[in-house]
Amino acid sequence: GKGTQASLLVERKGFAHISTGDLFRNAIKNNTALGIEAKSYMDKGELVPDSVTIRMVEEALAKLGDRPFMLDGFPRTVPQAEALERLTSEVGKPISKVISFAVDELVLLERLCGRRICKSCGAVYHSVYSSPKAEGVCDSCGGEVVQRSDDTEEAIKKRLEVYEESTSPVKSFYEEKSLLEDVDGVGSSEDVYTRLDKILK
Ligand code: AMP
Repeated sequence: GKGTQASLLVERKGFAHISTGDLFRNAIKNNTALGIEAKSYMDKGELVPDSVTIRMVEEALAKLGDRPFMLDGFPRTVPQAEALERLTSEVGKPISKVISFAVDELVLLERLCGRRICKSCGAVYHSVYSSPKAEGVCDSCGGEVVQRSDDTEEAIKKRLEVYEESTSPVKSFYEEKSLLEDVDGVGSSEDVYTRLDKILK
């Protein structure tokens, strides 16, 4: 539910939002060289290589100006976290909190298998819990609502393996710096937001 919570934070607190997954999906939509490279990893549930991802985040951070910002889906490996340390210290804007949402694997599978997104605006739906009013049509923009190509059973399985192997060590990295906050990610988006809001206050 990190993307959903990030959207709520943008709406309610005015944070700038850098989502590496969204940046890659935009690059794929625009058929850029970055998009073509990223797609080959994403569709298999693998991580896009660190060098490519870090360069993309560096560019996004440079465009931000002075707004407080939130990174969504980055860093996902320890080398990315180390690179982020360098980047944020160069601009004098250290990371103040790192949030890890914990969700039971069965709940996670149910969410991911049912997830549908709008191809045009990225709005997120669920085939059972929050389907669009007209099947396959986005309520907000009328765009086509589809399943993400990395929400297949095989890619989801791989993403969970990659999380255990490459991303979970990032938690220890930030725990050692006393920046890590664990948030229970089970429940409605408003339930989770209430927990998150308490921590951000
Ligand atoms: P997300 O939208 O955050 O679920 O990300 C979707 C996919 O984009 C991931 O499964 C990866 O293939 C790729 N991706 C997103 N963020 C990163 C990252 N920080 N490092 C490497 N790959 C990433």
